[in-house]
Amino acid sequence: MSVQATVHFLPLEKKKLFARWLDGIGAAAHIKPRDYTALKIHFGEKGNKGFIEPAMARIVAEKVKAAGGWPFLTDANTIYVGERADAVHHATVAGEHGFTLESCGCPVIIADGLRGNSGVDVHVGLKHFSHVSIANAIHYSDSLVFMSHFKGHEISGFGGALKNIGMGCGTRAGKYAMHDKLTPRVDVKQCIGCGQCVKWCGGHALRLENGTIVFDEKKCTGCGECILSCPSSVFEIPWDENTSAAQEKIVEYAFGVIKNKPHFSINFLNHITKFCDCYATKGSPLIGDIGILASPDPVALDQASADMVNKKFGGDFWRHIFPSIDWAVQLACAEELGLGTRKYKIVEMQL
Ligand code: SF4
Ligand code: SF4
Repeated sequence: MSVQATVHFLPLEKKKLFARWLDGIGAAAHIKPRDYTALKIHFGEKGNKGFIEPAMARIVAEKVKAAGGWPFLTDANTIYVGERADAVHHATVAGEHGFTLESCGCPVIIADGLRGNSGVDVHVGLKHFSHVSIANAIHYSDSLVFMSHFKGHEISGFGGALKNIGMGCGTRAGKYAMHDKLTPRVDVKQCIGCGQCVKWCGGHALRLENGTIVFDEKKCTGCGECILSCPSSVFEIPWDENTSAAQEKIVEYAFGVIKNKPHFSINFLNHITKFCDCYATKGSPLIGDIGILASPDPVALDQASADMVNKKFGGDFWRHIFPSIDWAVQLACAEELGLGTRKYKIVEMQL
């Protein structure tokens, strides 16, 4: 690991030069001929507008193909109720947002399968986890490119490359594990008595009595199946857990994803909102657009991205939007695990 990592910068006003810039910085240098290359991206929740433009994904896919790789766009299913909690709806939303074979030049494959339970247990032997549950298509790809929209996040202060790698590549069981044994909050009043959650509850923690749901929290394994199966938003994840522990867990998952696997990361610092693209509405940007940053080192990349936003804000922007979250925990943990360095130099190529 170099003492100081290089982070490449493309100002947003030069966005049209993105393809040339990728060539110049060697963004596809890690890709070998006949690699299955996962382009990990967030397709945006239905109704969200902050996600990365499909046209940018197409340019990255073309670079992968030029290097001889076989790219596919991918993300793993969510554990909250929404339009991306199973592969059918997730792929449909991706298509509605413009991520199609025609527009991006590569297929969309939902990484953890139909119901978010197609994964591989990867040994990591770390503080929180001995094994992490990584989405199948991520684990079995040969090389990876992470395209991350850089913005705020209610667990990690900001969400960038590390969160896209760690949380974003976990199966639904993995995502639950990262949320630290979270049992869902249950709003019984919303129950319409359909029984779907009972059918899918692996912990046998749910039963119907007099047409409404009864929850036995002691039996709950936190698998998240009820959240996916319920048509009536009865179940909700409590988001207010200890965020430092959650950040460490996200980084341990990131370790399981990228250890021994060639990878490259690109952060898009535009439309910087308080919350992530999992929210259905178009949040207003809180700060002006900056540009695109890229590096083979996701730690340096996230540190540089966070610093650039703070510089533009004139203070700690992330503490400003989430005062109780120490966003640096994820960076310190990732550096300690050898995923990269927090020391970096910004290089702006002349185009
Ligand atoms: S999280 Fe899993 S075990 Fe717990 S109630 Fe929901 S389906 Fe049952
Ligand atoms: S799936 Fe939802 S609405 Fe149906 S029984 Fe379970 S809690 Fe009630």
